[in-house]
Amino acid sequence: MELWYTEEHTPRVRFSIKVKEQILSRKSQFQQIDIFDSEEFGRFLTLDGLMMLTEKDEFIYHDMIVHVPMATNPDVRRALVIGGGDGGTVRELARYRGIEHIDMVDIDEMVVDACRKHLPSTSCRLDDRRVHLYFEDGLKFVRRFEDAYDLIIVDSTDPFGPGEGLFTKEFYGNCFKALSPDGILVNQHENPYYDSYAHAMTRAHRRIEEFFPVCRVYQAHIPTYPSGHWLFGFASKKLDPLEDMKPNLWNALGIETRYYNTKLHLGAFMLPNYVLKQLDLAG
Ligand code: SAM
Repeated sequence: MELWYTEEHTPRVRFSIKVKEQILSRKSQFQQIDIFDSEEFGRFLTLDGLMMLTEKDEFIYHDMIVHVPMATNPDVRRALVIGGGDGGTVRELARYRGIEHIDMVDIDEMVVDACRKHLPSTSCRLDDRRVHLYFEDGLKFVRRFEDAYDLIIVDSTDPFGPGEGLFTKEFYGNCFKALSPDGILVNQHENPYYDSYAHAMTRAHRRIEEFFPVCRVYQAHIPTYPSGHWLFGFASKKLDPLEDMKPNLWNALGIETRYYNTKLHLGAFMLPNYVLKQLDLAG
């Protein structure tokens, strides 16, 4: 008998991966957690039936969510990851010797435990001595800080269920307050192609713009996410990801990457016309 994982990208579009074996299926207080193994994508994690990462293409997402802000400010000392329970974002941040302190706050300890056990390729740096784990709602966690972080990365689920609060004005305002004067906020920003996701993306962009003087969007190709075209938000108090990036400093760090490079960094901010229009940036 053949076993297939199928995800609805829209009510009229489905995406399927042939499964070798289901490794885990558990329901936490917050969400349904599944891990599968496949020939094509290796192991993959889904939450509430939505793809979070596969072993084969996670390097694209994690390179882009971490190295773009780090090449803009290679001097980041204190970083906060909100969500990110699989550990992939922390793994990439931990490669920077200059980072002194990484807080990660995920609402669901069961996701982190599952990934530690079954996805060591992403969770492998969660025990780094600079990493401090908190299990609570990121919306509440970030309220208590002022001028505390140089970088906040929102590596969340989509804007429904437990991740909903991480797309609100209150959250973005508190992130602004929690950041240092050079601070950068990067978030996973959904896809521009299918209407329901595009709506969430433009709404998030408008909300972030209300607080941050620098507010841009960049893109990557992630084969297992809906439409394969994924956006990230880049917001900051001061630093512009194109004008202020430090390619020489970043390249001198000698960090080897499979997707990110400093030329691609520039190209990733060059958006298609229909996306510029959605973001009111056309003209
Ligand atoms: N790369 C992924 C993507 O874009 O699909 C995100 C992966 S990561 C596994 C998402 C994490 O966000 C999950 O572990 C989930 O528990 C966490 N999360 C969801 N809502 C949250 C909240 N309000 N506060 C903190 N973490 C949250």
